[in-house]
Amino acid sequence: MPEAHGQRYAHAVRAAQDSDAGDVPDVLIVGAGPAGCAAAIVLSQCGRRVLLIDRPAGARHALAESIPPSARRILSVLGMKDAADAAGFQPWLGNTVWWGGADPRVETFATGEAGHQVERARFDALLRGAAAEAGVTLRSGFVSDVTIPSLDQSRSGEPDVNGVSATIEADGHSSRVTARIVLDCSGRAGVIARRGLRVTETSHHTVALVGVWRAGPPWPAAQHGHTLVASHADGWAWSVPTTRDTRYVTVMVDPERSHLTRGASALGVYRAELQKVAPFSRWLDGATLVDGPWGADASLYGTHHHAGPGYLLVGDAGAFIDPLSSFGVKKALASGWMAAVTANTVLTTPSMRDAAVEFYERRERAVIRSFHSQTARYAAEAVGDGAHPFWPARLAVAPPDADAGDADEIDTTLLARDPDVLAALGDLRQRPQIQLRLGDRARIGLRSAIRGHQIVMDDHLFLPAWPEGVRYLRNIDLLLLLRLAPGCRDVSELYDACLRAHPGVALPDFLGALATLVARGGLQHEI
Ligand SMILES: Cc1cc2nc3c(=O)[nH]c(=O)nc-3n(C[C@H](O)[C@H](O)[C@H](O)COP(=O)(O)OP(=O)(O)OC[C@H]3O[C@@H](n4cnc5c(N)ncnc54)[C@H](O)[C@@H]3O)c2cc1C
Repeated sequence: MPEAHGQRYAHAVRAAQDSDAGDVPDVLIVGAGPAGCAAAIVLSQCGRRVLLIDRPAGARHALAESIPPSARRILSVLGMKDAADAAGFQPWLGNTVWWGGADPRVETFATGEAGHQVERARFDALLRGAAAEAGVTLRSGFVSDVTIPSLDQSRSGEPDVNGVSATIEADGHSSRVTARIVLDCSGRAGVIARRGLRVTETSHHTVALVGVWRAGPPWPAAQHGHTLVASHADGWAWSVPTTRDTRYVTVMVDPERSHLTRGASALGVYRAELQKVAPFSRWLDGATLVDGPWGADASLYGTHHHAGPGYLLVGDAGAFIDPLSSFGVKKALASGWMAAVTANTVLTTPSMRDAAVEFYERRERAVIRSFHSQTARYAAEAVGDGAHPFWPARLAVAPPDADAGDADEIDTTLLARDPDVLAALGDLRQRPQIQLRLGDRARIGLRSAIRGHQIVMDDHLFLPAWPEGVRYLRNIDLLLLLRLAPGCRDVSELYDACLRAHPGVALPDFLGALATLVARGGLQHEI
């Protein structure tokens, strides 16, 4: 951690502990991992008083994890991008993949694009430094009990949203803090989630066994900065480099279907599993295991509700996605951002409470569904001849509507290949003139949406294809297009009109949005 960030964090913790009582915070956040820190920073940016509590680190092992290049945007919003770049993490340059018996696949990120291969303890310390810098009050302590009237069965009537409280154990003392809203950002521990909200995936369990290796003979230069991933008949393994000659190497084991539950030592199981991963055993030959192996639970779970009056479950506290995706940290940061916007809305506009909570619930579910569907696709590729139940069990996790998603999350890369959209685009290009009007089945109506740091009710376009309503596509305001299109005689006139309303609109985005509107029936040709 850069010195300045480390000092700010230590200072903020000391200051909070010295004052102890302090003012009543607007929001109490349990857990200062990616979700908790992101939520705390954004709430602080909104001018909210935040108390962020994390249990003492103790002797827990921290993992090394891959954070994708696409996370840079949210790191930037959190004021963390420069600190992450300066921290000296090994850049994540791509993946080398041996999957399902197919030939090895090398996926190198585009030039100039890199993620971070982070030791989580160091990365989390950076996040906490950024939170302290944003004005968040940090405290070290173990949150042992949270009282939330809306979850308390013994209370009746309309729940009181203004009164959550928690017990914090620190240095042999316990104290009670109150706040208006509490965010459970405690990850798998699920301080609030485990109060009857957590839904455990029962079809299979996964334990990650992690070891740290130092190179003997130098490892292949082509794999520097690459995450290595390999499947085999009854599991998979992956390796994250933290320096050129240090790698965390993890095997994923199903404890019910391996020797783990039958008395074998962790080291024995780890070495036996690594033997199954032919591409790894080659380069590990001559390397030294310098730490571990240790175990980490990587089993899936979800929740009955992500939010209710007075509380939100954020990041892994709400749901755990398969680590195969390498998106857990980004998902947690994004979830923290969304939770902050939701809490800020509830505090600013109490009448929006139910709409905001519903919005958060819907977004969290859509994100999780899409990750489950992605990992089910990887499982399908890995099944191979399917002799072992490890992979078939993992196919079943995605619900049938896994690809439906949220209208706000329309996958524009899929749209770019959609035959109807391509046909509409070709047709638009051929027409010397256009005469467009609102489609017969299109409807404009109100739906919740994010504007700045608030959830508001705003006009959206509803279509049979988009029953949940959509407003923006490729950053183009679809309602603007619907309004301008009928008055324009050709596509370039419509583009000019769009540019006048929103300077800087890119032509490919404009054409993509227009073609999609026509293909889905939002706009229809008069002739
Ligand atoms: C084996 C494995 C490999 C993974 N690999 C990757 C990867 O390569 N890339 C990736 O993006 N993601 C990866 N993930 C997922 C990633 O670790 C999580 O998704 C991410 O850490 C979630 O962040 P979070 O803030 O929600 O929870 P956490 O990071 O778990 O943070 C929770 C915080 O709450 C604190 N806490 C818990 N209980 C209490 C309490 N009672 N009182 C006070 N504080 C408490 C904890 O100390 C912790 O700081 C992996 C996960 C596993 C298990």
